[in-house]
Amino acid sequence: MLTEDITLSIDIDRNRHPVSALAEAHRRHRWLQHVLPPHCLHCQAPGLPGLDLCATCWDELPWNDTACPRCGLPLPHPAPACGACLKRAPKITRTLAPLRYADSVTQLLPRFKFHQQLAIGRMLAKLVEHVVLADGIADGMDALIPMPLHRKRLAQRGYNQALELARPLGKSLQLPVRLDLLHRARDTAPQTGLDARARRRNLRGAFVASPSVKGMHVVLLDDVITTGASLREASQALLRSGAAEVRALAIARADTPKHR
Ligand SMILES: [Zn+2]
Ligand SMILES: [Zn+2]
Repeated sequence: MLTEDITLSIDIDRNRHPVSALAEAHRRHRWLQHVLPPHCLHCQAPGLPGLDLCATCWDELPWNDTACPRCGLPLPHPAPACGACLKRAPKITRTLAPLRYADSVTQLLPRFKFHQQLAIGRMLAKLVEHVVLADGIADGMDALIPMPLHRKRLAQRGYNQALELARPLGKSLQLPVRLDLLHRARDTAPQTGLDARARRRNLRGAFVASPSVKGMHVVLLDDVITTGASLREASQALLRSGAAEVRALAIARADTPKHR
């Protein structure tokens, strides 16, 4: 029996005050954690202890072990930077994306991002935690900033996937999660299907940073980095408002810098 089936069969107390779908999902998940042993969210096999992923799926994970330290781009060999970053150093000083956007990750991340499967987000955060801690990306940093969603998009989706990742990762990194430092000022068309130039145009002026970020060293957090256009635009807004340093963290990074 799949978790979804079990979830549906839980008798929800209909007399309680109405709660948002998200709060309900959190409540169900917490309940399920008590009654179900870990099970793989990718293939449904029994999970590793304390992790909703099985040993086989773990062994097949596309770790992004040799990546450009500046932009996180997967590289065939370790190097101080990729070609693009050597040519023009990005404003973001460091990027860490522990996984490549490949194999199982291309199925897990969209299920988390677009289909309200928040348990996948928690599993992914737990999955990359050891890499994030070992890397030291948060050393000397002041805050973790999840990439903001425009309120219209937030209302449609019901949650911000970056914030769902920021909560557990902020706790592991002992970094305060700050939602007040960066805002999405403008709703933008979905980036999917746009080339890099169109993405940049689409994002112009999309982010506004608070003056409170002045002098701060911050880590921007997103679920996946495709071309990096959103992170670049957001980092520029933070730097314009006086941030001392911006680093970036994501669960996964796309292999090829499409139309960069
Ligand atoms: Zn599995
Ligand atoms: Zn690079």
